[in-house]
Amino acid sequence: MNILRRMLVRGLQNEALNHLVHLANANRLAVLCYHGVVEERLGPEHHQFRTTVSASDFAEQMQWLSRWFTPVSATAVRDWRPGRGALPRHPLLVTFDDGYRNNFTLAAPILRKYGVPAVFFVSTGYIEADRLYWYDELKLRLLAWRGRDIRVPGLSESQLWPGEPGARRAFAQRISAGCKAIPNDARLEYTDYVRRETPEWSLGNAERETIRPMNWDEVRSLANQGFEIGSHSVDHPILSQLDPAELRRELRDSKSRIEEITGKSCFAIAYPNGKTRDVSPAVVAETEAAGYELGFIMDERLHRPTGNCFSISRISAVGHVPPGAMRVRVSGLRGLLDSVFDAETRRR
Ligand SMILES: [Zn+2]
Repeated sequence: MNILRRMLVRGLQNEALNHLVHLANANRLAVLCYHGVVEERLGPEHHQFRTTVSASDFAEQMQWLSRWFTPVSATAVRDWRPGRGALPRHPLLVTFDDGYRNNFTLAAPILRKYGVPAVFFVSTGYIEADRLYWYDELKLRLLAWRGRDIRVPGLSESQLWPGEPGARRAFAQRISAGCKAIPNDARLEYTDYVRRETPEWSLGNAERETIRPMNWDEVRSLANQGFEIGSHSVDHPILSQLDPAELRRELRDSKSRIEEITGKSCFAIAYPNGKTRDVSPAVVAETEAAGYELGFIMDERLHRPTGNCFSISRISAVGHVPPGAMRVRVSGLRGLLDSVFDAETRRR
């Protein structure tokens, strides 16, 4: 089924077809989710391959996306309610998750050049802290794993650690995904275990630069340049895996810290990881209670005007995706295809 879906997506990269679907979706909001922007395009073997875009690819994307769409701010999206405000046709919101320093150094100048507003969702516990995002550190430590066996989150027995680099990367990816599907305490315990077992691990300067978080001056400067700063929680846990007190703290402390730094209301959050199972009804209720007005998920769809503002769809944007495939995503064709396949899968 996945092969068929991939073949279909490849076959649908026709510009005219995508343009037609794009025209039909004129009143839907496209929200793109970027992570890191890097000087040079990274190779598929790099652990950041799936979450980075090169500065030149990013500039090219901003150029053609601002022809296809009308870039809007998160404030305009918030005010897009009956009787409060309207969005232009083909609205596009550009967002960044996590708070990588390269958002400030590389992305912001390009956004300014093309006049594209953006919201930067930052995990406040990492800003100006001398540590790496937990999932980056975990993946890098796993890739440096020297042991014969390794524990796997959620399983009681150890597994054989593969020897071949591609298999190691796939295994590390599986472990990282596993950490997102277990209670937060178990995730913290597992990341401690990996840290303990890889004492020799260290990170080169160039590598650190790629995944370094911003500091507060940089966040403040983005806000002063007119960009919006949203919350991506404090410590980037999977919110649905937290107990109620932790959940409240993650939502409220990040919001108040951002407001203190920027002097502006922090009304939007991108839920960490953002998949359906990461955002339970309790997470949404607590988000609303904390005073947020918009919540962003990650489901590769366009957002309908009548959709829930605590469950705004986003599309992941990465550099290695060729323009044709990117058009299939942002036109809404891929979301349409996913709906068909998901319905088909549910029927089975
Ligand atoms: Zn994130």
